[in-house]
Amino acid sequence: MRQEVEALLALQEDDLKIREIENEIRALDPHLAEFDKRKASAAAAVTRAQTAVEAEEKKQRELQQRLAQHKTQQERNLHQLEDVKRLREATAATAQVEATRRLMAEDESEIAILGRRINEMNAAVAASKQALADVEREQKEARPEIEAKRAALQSQLDDARQHRNGKAGSVSRPTLGKYDRIRGRRGQALYALRGGSCGNCDTAVPLQRRNLMASSGDIEICEACGVLLYAEL
Ligand SMILES: [Zn+2]
Repeated sequence: MRQEVEALLALQEDDLKIREIENEIRALDPHLAEFDKRKASAAAAVTRAQTAVEAEEKKQRELQQRLAQHKTQQERNLHQLEDVKRLREATAATAQVEATRRLMAEDESEIAILGRRINEMNAAVAASKQALADVEREQKEARPEIEAKRAALQSQLDDARQHRNGKAGSVSRPTLGKYDRIRGRRGQALYALRGGSCGNCDTAVPLQRRNLMASSGDIEICEACGVLLYAEL
């Protein structure tokens, strides 16, 4: 039975190493997810800035159309003013010219304000594009490093699993079954007795049982925490 303890300890050593590698691989995932998130958010900022500029440019085109209509209207007004004969008609035509001039001035002022706003917004578009380019450049360097690290760990993991499975044959099926079940629940399954107590939960094991474990090399289950226990020689 002593041999079984040795075989199980060797297996556990591999399993703990495998778990460590798996944890290292898992620790890389948030890095890559963070990269994706940052890139997506930088790209979304570019789209938002561009959409905002497009909306303002549409307004600008509409204002320019309105100004063009007012200019055409004003040409007609001026012709009318030239043609009028009577004073009353002249007063009305002059008022019309003045009204249209005010509208044109308003149009021009709005177009100028909008033009300044569009310039500012275009600067924001350029800044967001620069930020996206920075993120992409930074990731172009860092991402392959992480991916190479992950590939190296994965190959270590494959080797370790192969090595482990080669050893599993030297443990009896019932013991291996118990070991795998406990390991699945708690990570480490096999503990040595420590000062007469369970090496995991510290619950005392009766002397008689301890002596039996030491003499037979049997593996027992801790009644308190459920791990496998063996007595060290
Ligand atoms: Zn225990």
